[in-house]
Amino acid sequence: MLKKIFFCPLLFTCCFFVSAQSYKKLHFNSIVVDTHNDLLSTAIEKNYLIDEDLSGKTHSDLDRFKKAGVDVQLFSVWCDGLQVNPYAWANREMDTLDAVAKRNPDKIVKVGNPTELLQAVKEKKLAAMFGVEGGHMIENNLDNLNNFYNRGVRYMTLTWNNSTDWATSALDETTKADSLKHKGLTEFGKQVVKRINELGMLVDLSHVGETTFWDAIKITTKPVIVSHSCVYSLCPHRRNLKDDQILAVGKNGGVIHLNFYSGFLDSSFDRRTDLFNNSHKAERDSLLKQNPEPYFADMFLFTKYPEEVKALRPPLSLLIDHLDYIVKLIGVDHVGIGSDYDGVNSLPQQLDDITAMPLITKELLKRGYSKKDIRKILGENFLRIFEANTSK
Ligand SMILES: [Zn+2]
Repeated sequence: MLKKIFFCPLLFTCCFFVSAQSYKKLHFNSIVVDTHNDLLSTAIEKNYLIDEDLSGKTHSDLDRFKKAGVDVQLFSVWCDGLQVNPYAWANREMDTLDAVAKRNPDKIVKVGNPTELLQAVKEKKLAAMFGVEGGHMIENNLDNLNNFYNRGVRYMTLTWNNSTDWATSALDETTKADSLKHKGLTEFGKQVVKRINELGMLVDLSHVGETTFWDAIKITTKPVIVSHSCVYSLCPHRRNLKDDQILAVGKNGGVIHLNFYSGFLDSSFDRRTDLFNNSHKAERDSLLKQNPEPYFADMFLFTKYPEEVKALRPPLSLLIDHLDYIVKLIGVDHVGIGSDYDGVNSLPQQLDDITAMPLITKELLKRGYSKKDIRKILGENFLRIFEANTSK
């Protein structure tokens, strides 16, 4: 809960003065969990090795997790719905991390349960797990879900932007509502949720449509994770959660991990980005001819015009506003961090790469959160739902 701050000038100074030493000490002594990072997909796409220094090229790499004070990383396993063999692709991504762990046993270790996680933290190694970002990667086969679990997958996002044959996504429910063959979870979709519960994985409700959300939260027997989403009331984007959904996650005992993407935090970001795109229209159009996926054109232009792009970025305080909102609605036990580093092309001011993570702790102290509550936000809330899902 937020501490009460009285308006005495002396106390005012005390409350808002956060020394570098105090926030860093708290941050690096806490268990910090980030539930969403897309470095694996980025590394494969660009042919990078994640155990090399990728500063200036990516938001994160193996050594920068340590510099960031991140103790536990859920690595996103992702491919879009157009991938011909999504199950094979997912396994290839997992092979990539397994090879990194094999080459760097003193720095990173795969963990599968809370005991192994805590042991890794004790040994000062990055505790790594996978989150499969999109149910299409099981290719409608529950055996594939079992195999994912055996390889270290500890959450599955029921859909990415594409719907599966058994669950509809936020994108499709909001843009193709009339042409959908079904909406929400089918009977097989319910079996998927049941199997995730039985295996001891977490059901991830980021990216899913509202109907899927309500179907899943009604039948899950364990606390859910929302691995990388923000607050709809503050930024009305389909990827964010409405108040009734936030309340339902609180009631379920789950945790909402906040995404750092500017477009999910700042309701005016898209409008300001459109103005930027219009001012570079000719260049953008030619980039789109080379690759019709706007993400790549945006990335190119965002890198080429850093000063203009800097002005598009919201302040770091807006991320904390989203966090405050959830805390006020359902309490401090239900919020965490799911950065989406290496999966987004715009981040709030100051959060340039993963090494900026301690600034979150600094902002939380400035807002008056107690050290106990900050430790919950940074990682203990995730540990609680991880324990609840993995204990038989
Ligand atoms: Zn995502």
